[in-house]
Amino acid sequence: MSYSTGRHFLQIPGPTNVPDRVLRAIAAPTIDHRGPRLPTLVLELFDRLRPVFGTEGPVVIFPASGTGAWEAALVNTLSPGDTVLAFETGQFATLWQEMAQRLGLVVDFVPGDWRHGADPVAAHEKLAADADHAIKAVCVVHNETSTGVTSRVPEIRAAMDAAEHPALLLVDTISSLASIDYRHDEWGVDVTVAGSQKGLMLPPGLSFNAVGDKALAASEHATLARSYWDWRPILRANRNGSFPYTPATNLLYGLREALIMLEEEGLPAVFARHARHAAATRAAVRGWGLEVLCADEREYSGSLTAVLLPDDYDADKVRQVILDRYDMSLGAGLGRLAGKVFRIGHLGHFNDLMLAGTLVGVQLGLRSAGVPIDPRGLAQAWEVLGA
Ligand SMILES: *Cc1c(COP(=O)(O)O)cnc(C)c1O
Repeated sequence: MSYSTGRHFLQIPGPTNVPDRVLRAIAAPTIDHRGPRLPTLVLELFDRLRPVFGTEGPVVIFPASGTGAWEAALVNTLSPGDTVLAFETGQFATLWQEMAQRLGLVVDFVPGDWRHGADPVAAHEKLAADADHAIKAVCVVHNETSTGVTSRVPEIRAAMDAAEHPALLLVDTISSLASIDYRHDEWGVDVTVAGSQKGLMLPPGLSFNAVGDKALAASEHATLARSYWDWRPILRANRNGSFPYTPATNLLYGLREALIMLEEEGLPAVFARHARHAAATRAAVRGWGLEVLCADEREYSGSLTAVLLPDDYDADKVRQVILDRYDMSLGAGLGRLAGKVFRIGHLGHFNDLMLAGTLVGVQLGLRSAGVPIDPRGLAQAWEVLGA
C-alpha cells in the first residue's frame, strides 16, 4: 500500500467514522466492573438509550457484534420447530434466516428481488392464511444494508394486526438506529436488534436487544437452547447496574458519549440530516447517469445508497481504484450483487463537506475506472445540499 496523508474516508455503511469525542471517551482507564463506578454509568446508559430505540422498556446490551443480537432475539423468544416468516430483502435478511434455520426453526422466506423492502401485502397474505398460528415470529430487516432499501415497518405491523395474528415482530435496526426514524413502542415491535458500529458512531463490539412485554413473556416459555444470550440473568443484574459477566466497559464509556452527542443534535435533526445526505447522493448518482438500486421511492435508505453499474463494468474495480487513488473505502456488492453495485455509506458522524469529498472521490474514481458518466452529476448533489 502507498503512503496516505490526511484522513482515510471510511464511507462503507458500517463500521462508520468514530467521532474524536467518542474515541477520547473510550481511551479512559479500564475500571473494576464490580466496583462502585459501574452501576452509575450503566443506569445512566439505559436512561439515554431508551429514547433512541423509542421505548420505555428494557434494552439489553451484549458485548458482541450485531450477529450476536440476532441470535439473542431468536433464542430468547422461540422454540425448536417454530415457524418464522422472513423476507428476502437482501444479504442480511438472507443471513438472519439462515441462522434461524441452523437454530432449528422453520423459515418461510418470502422471495424478493433485492430492490424492494419487506412486502406488507405478502405479509398479510401469509399471516391471514396461517389459521392455526404456526408462525411464531415475523423477522424484518428495517434497513437492508446490502441494498440501501428501508422496509416500512409500520405497514408490516398493520398487516399483522389486520390478520389478527399473534406472532412476534422482530426487527433488525443495525444500520438504521440513530440514522432513520424508528419507534420500538409506537410501531408495536417486540424485539429490536441493533449494533454499535453504524448509526451509533461507535467501534464494532456492542449490540442490543430492545425487549417489549410480549417478547419478555415469550422468553419465559421459549425452549431453544440459550445461555450466554439469555436475557433473564442480564435483566436481573441490570436492575442494579451490573452484569452477570464482564461488560465491554470502555465501549460503554464511548456509548455514553455517542448518546450525549445524539441528544445534543436531537434525533429529528439526526434523521433529517441523513435523509438530506441520502437525497443529495441519489441526485449525484442520477446526474452521473447511473441507477440507484432501491426501486421504490418510499423505501430509499437514509443510511446508504447502493449504486448499480451498467452491465459491463465491475463495481469492485471501481472501489479498488477509489481506494488506491483517493484512500476512500466504499461498500462492496454482497451476495448476488457482488461486482454489480457499490455502496456509499452516508451515516453516523458525517456532514456536508464529508459528503462532498465522498462524492468527488466517487466521481473521479468512476472516470478513472472508465465508467461512462456525466460529470455534471456532482452539481446535482450541490443543488440538494444548497437548497
Ligand atoms: C452490519 C449488519 C449486520 C451484521 O452485524 P455484525 O455487527 O457484522 O454482526 C446485520 N444486519 C444488518 C442490517 C447490518 O447492517
